Amino acid sequence: MPEHTARGRTAVVIGGGLAGMLAVVALRGHVETITVVERDRYPAGHAFRKGVPQAHHLHILLSGGQRALERLLPGTVAALTDAGARSLYLPRDLLTRTPTGWQRRFDERRHPTLSVTRPVLDAVVRERALRALGPTTRVEVLEATEAVGLLGDARRVAGVTVRDRATGTSRPLPADLVVDASGRGSRTPQWYAELGREAPREETVDSGLAYATRMYRPTDEDGEPETAVNVPGWPECPRGAAYLPVEGGNWLLTLSGVTGHHPPTDEAEFAAFSATIGDPYVHELLTRAEPVSPVHGFRDTRNRRRHYDHPGALPEGLLVLGDANCTFNPVYGQGMSVAALGAVALRDTLDAAGGPGPGVLARAQRAVGRAAESAWMAAVGADRPYAHGTEAKAGPGERLMSWYLDRLAARAAVDRVVGGAFRDVFCLTAPPARLMAPRVLLRTVFLPRRPGLPRPPGTVETT
Ligand SMILES: Cc1cc2nc3c(=O)[nH]c(=O)nc-3n(C[C@H](O)[C@H](O)[C@H](O)COP(=O)(O)OP(=O)(O)OC[C@H]3O[C@@H](n4cnc5c(N)ncnc54)[C@H](O)[C@@H]3O)c2cc1C
Repeated sequence: MPEHTARGRTAVVIGGGLAGMLAVVALRGHVETITVVERDRYPAGHAFRKGVPQAHHLHILLSGGQRALERLLPGTVAALTDAGARSLYLPRDLLTRTPTGWQRRFDERRHPTLSVTRPVLDAVVRERALRALGPTTRVEVLEATEAVGLLGDARRVAGVTVRDRATGTSRPLPADLVVDASGRGSRTPQWYAELGREAPREETVDSGLAYATRMYRPTDEDGEPETAVNVPGWPECPRGAAYLPVEGGNWLLTLSGVTGHHPPTDEAEFAAFSATIGDPYVHELLTRAEPVSPVHGFRDTRNRRRHYDHPGALPEGLLVLGDANCTFNPVYGQGMSVAALGAVALRDTLDAAGGPGPGVLARAQRAVGRAAESAWMAAVGADRPYAHGTEAKAGPGERLMSWYLDRLAARAAVDRVVGGAFRDVFCLTAPPARLMAPRVLLRTVFLPRRPGLPRPPGTVETT
């Protein structure tokens, strides 16, 4: 990076979570100082913290997210594995029950998926992101400090107002550029009003899904289950369960259900709910495990994107990243990967432009929007049948696509070629166009529908 691009420029990153830390990496070399403003105080070790309440729930990092993370912070996937993260190849190590039966267990090794608790993931990424800073960029983290507003005017953001949570005192923190990485509770739309701007256009599709999660430890004499399990809900049975290993020999069980089928957070009722999902297999596994944590619930799982990428929707000096920009129904496991892909898009745009000159952040915001597009289409397409009111209305193009994707998903459970393309797109390593490749399209449309396997497959299909 040419050093002159960094001279004199200051950046503030709101939120020292995953997207905030990746923003720090993306800005490296393009500014002289970065101040991360984080509302929480980071706990010692790998403890949960209040600012990331979703951290109690199952989090997988898709192969597309891992690639992005590696581009930003090489060696991080190995560091996560060293910290106990479990790497599961799809579909070999994650048995999935689809509406038509169990998915075949092909020995495909293209999509390693990391399963790890959020406190470990966040701590490993944070430690590496802060350590990686080179001599041209100085970084400071203001813990227990909250951003409470933006400085500047309708045309240009010039910093943030911060409040020290211990003393309650507020002060301005001027900066040449501000990245909002404050997560799903971002207040930038409200702060826009104080700057005299209209809030960005917002799209939402809400399936009404709720989560409840509990940690277990297998008690089986033969050890832990050989594979992880995913039984997502489907329209006729909108209750699901995912049971995956994490570090330390523990497993996380996340139960989910749409409105009218929300999983209980009551400890006595929790395991019983797992017997009401589309297949008894997960419930059977629970008889060989004991709970080692309370049950945690999570309700707001809507897909929501704010169009900061639309023309004129962003003042100079601002960029919005991660969940602050776009949140997804977590059941598809995409949010962290999209945050990482967005940070790569930010870095690539800054690198190409030689730094954050006029108009560059708006260009970067468009690239961040493009990085979220595939995941958005997948999540919204799958959730539309559960949505209500205007959110439920799909255009003719989307209806045709839903018909096709429904057929494709059923075929993917039993067909290597279609399944491979499906995973490439849903793991965010290939664009949605991969699903329209001639041999995928022909197999999806013209081969007859075949059911999946009647029982969870015990052996891997190597040929
Ligand atoms: C139940 C659930 C399960 C999920 N499972 C998955 C999964 O399996 N795979 C996946 O990829 N994604 C998953 N996600 C999505 C994932 O959690 C998010 O995409 C990810 O955390 C986004 O990172 P972020 O840094 O944008 O936000 P966060 O991780 O939420 O971090 C935001 C940070 O900003 C701080 N902050 C907030 N406001 C302020 C302020 N005003 N001033 C200063 N600091 C502030 C917070 O304290 C926090 O540190 C799941 C989400 C949910 C809700």
